[in-house]
Amino acid sequence: MTYLAIVLLLVLSALFSGLTLGFLGLDRSELERKKNLGNHKARVIYEVRKNNNLLLVTLLVGNVLVNAILSVMLASITSGAFAVAVSTFLIVIFGEIIPQAFFAKYALTVGYFFVPIVRLLLFVFYPIAFPVAWMLEKAMGKEQDTIWSKEELAEVIKSHEDSSFSELDSDEEKVILGALTFSDKKAGEVMTMKKECFMLSEGSMLTESVLHNIKERGHTRIPVYYKKQRNIVGVLFTKDLITLRETKPLATVYRPDTILQVHTRESLDDVLNKFLHKRIHMAYVVNGDNKFVGLITLEDIVEEIIKTEINDESDE
Ligand code: ATP
Repeated sequence: MTYLAIVLLLVLSALFSGLTLGFLGLDRSELERKKNLGNHKARVIYEVRKNNNLLLVTLLVGNVLVNAILSVMLASITSGAFAVAVSTFLIVIFGEIIPQAFFAKYALTVGYFFVPIVRLLLFVFYPIAFPVAWMLEKAMGKEQDTIWSKEELAEVIKSHEDSSFSELDSDEEKVILGALTFSDKKAGEVMTMKKECFMLSEGSMLTESVLHNIKERGHTRIPVYYKKQRNIVGVLFTKDLITLRETKPLATVYRPDTILQVHTRESLDDVLNKFLHKRIHMAYVVNGDNKFVGLITLEDIVEEIIKTEINDESDE
């Protein structure tokens, strides 16, 4: 009978200790994410894991209680130094090391089946566990959610891509990393420099040679300026030239106010938001002295997000 009780107590000791490490070793935020993704086991465990102090105190009280009874029972069948050695050995190996190693690995899959027992323990030990858990929370504060910085998120993505167990491939890695970092870049870093910009003066005539030049450059949007390049007044859309039957003044064809102004220091996410809200896909960039220094389009931003140079049919 005593031996049976000892075995039973050892099993309980193993369970308490394994569940303590298993459940509290599960990151609460990660459990919540899994729960939100529809993982049933995570949802069930989350309900007992969310109040970490109450769970910790309950499992520890249970564990200490069981270990104390176990030591007394072992002392009743052995004595002296031998009793100490046997109980230490049994508790450490079977009550602590093996269950902790096991539950650390299978907390989610196996721990799930023990949730009803944990609920029962939470109920039984509530009168003792609740005041202690309450004091712990007052002294140490609530458990904080794990919030990663952008750099940490990037490291997670990189290590996932490197792992053979991950579904993430290198294209996805590139786009996610680009999406994480593109807002750190400024318009001035990705714009097309002024000297490379193809623009037309508002006073121009759309002659054969000008049209030929437009075709050669291959751009869809051509900024139009009044007298000086810094006075940009609109954009000539090359598709508006399709219906052109005769040589016309550019002033009658271009569309005024179809270009935004942004600053070299503006971050790409701000520029992107402007493009999307105003439904305009090109901006001229000005520096600190309000001087025109370049052009930026939606494509320049998309290239930063996907970390790939986009070349279309008309690009060389
Ligand atoms: P689409 O792809 O619609 O034909 P596009 O090739 O003319 O248009 P975008 O795709 O918006 O233009 O941009 C491609 C690159 O060309 C970007 O780096 C952009 O800054 C640059 N770019 C666009 N228009 C001009 C222009 N008029 N002069 C100089 N560079 C331009």
